[in-house]
Amino acid sequence: MRIVSKFGGSSLADANQIKKVCNIITSNSDRKLIVVSAPGKRFNDDVKVTDLLISLGNAHLQGGDVSYEFKSVINRFRLIAKDLSMELEIVEEISKDIFSKYTSDIKNPGKYMDALKASGEDNCAKLVAKYLISTGVNAEYINPGYAGLILSEEFGNAHVLPESYDNLARLNNNDAIKIFPGFFGYSIHGDIVTLPRGGSDVTGSILAAAVSADIYENFTDVDSVFAVNPNLVKNPTPINDLTYKEMRELSYAGFSVFHEEALTPVYYKGIPVHIKNTNNPEGKGTKIHKYVNKENRNPVTGIAGDKGFSSIYIRKYLMNREIGFTRKVLQILEEENIPYEHIPSGIDEISIVVRKKFLNIDSERKILKRIKKLGTDEVYVTHNQALVMIVGESCLENVNTLAIASKAFADHNIHIKMINQGSSKVSIMFGMDERFYEEAIIALYKAFY
Ligand code: ASP
Repeated sequence: MRIVSKFGGSSLADANQIKKVCNIITSNSDRKLIVVSAPGKRFNDDVKVTDLLISLGNAHLQGGDVSYEFKSVINRFRLIAKDLSMELEIVEEISKDIFSKYTSDIKNPGKYMDALKASGEDNCAKLVAKYLISTGVNAEYINPGYAGLILSEEFGNAHVLPESYDNLARLNNNDAIKIFPGFFGYSIHGDIVTLPRGGSDVTGSILAAAVSADIYENFTDVDSVFAVNPNLVKNPTPINDLTYKEMRELSYAGFSVFHEEALTPVYYKGIPVHIKNTNNPEGKGTKIHKYVNKENRNPVTGIAGDKGFSSIYIRKYLMNREIGFTRKVLQILEEENIPYEHIPSGIDEISIVVRKKFLNIDSERKILKRIKKLGTDEVYVTHNQALVMIVGESCLENVNTLAIASKAFADHNIHIKMINQGSSKVSIMFGMDERFYEEAIIALYKAFY
């Protein structure tokens, strides 16, 4: 049995958490390949090491005094090392490394920031490996560049390159427990590049696929994935089993337990993912796999949603007859570098739903001007839109899923602007004004659970 285990930032936030992680690692001899994040939050208002590093980098780029920011980062590592009774020599090493990163060349700010951001994970991995060795465990730190994790040269938003898989497959070669830092790899030019935020989940998934693991364990700070956001509904139903497809849709719509991009590598290899709690490792957790037993299963596995959408409404008489009209509109968005999310359409109308964060006053004005030039009758943008989704492998097989949802909305006087059923085989999506968002999710949860 081969297990790849990834531990998130809250599992490494302090010495006590790191001890729990090390106990979990050594409690099963199949756990040989371990991915770690940078130390995360110890309490609600705490700041993650990655965010401290970003503040340090930004302060340096602005040319200010950064002694406070530098100390804040080093003190987090110092406290951990001290509480683990480790030689303070390691703090010296970490301090030297982070100093050299933040004082490095700033000509390319993206490249500069990535090297600095990655030092959170990198030093955490070194520290965990050293701690394990100090307790007599056969462990080693693995450098992602040395192991051959090659990423595209997109600073802060990199993707894995295919050759990485063969390189990383060689990690199976000896008996030592390998501690691999998450979140970053190297470009073909040898520069450090980071994955999107939360990317250690992705590193773990890449490693699991590369070594053909039997299971990819993802340790976090909750007992399971819940059917709805626990910040909106108290003690929601836990989900013990779900499919890749369901998880993909739920992560898209705001479930943050597992990174949206992390499913792809394991999905293609059919490797199950097991989400578990570092603070309760014996708990059931949530398993994500290809198939689930649909018998006696609620047709709705989860309810999710997200705010921050904008809808570009376009009306043109006889639009349906004009071949290529939608392509021309999408080409405008492509040229303005704006990804679209959904395109609900009528006979003479389409709405293009995009994330608001990709628009600004200038790009919005420019896009509307260009779309108008296509001879449209009406074009405008509506902001502050929310999307709410019900997700479940059998939600469309049930004749009354939509009826239950509609009744829940009507009972709460929630106006639905868009319904998308059938484009996805495992979800139904509702568009509405953001002001209805919370109430809509709670109403759906009550109706289905
Ligand atoms: N430390 C990085 C972040 O905070 C990556 C991760 O934790 O997965 O985004």
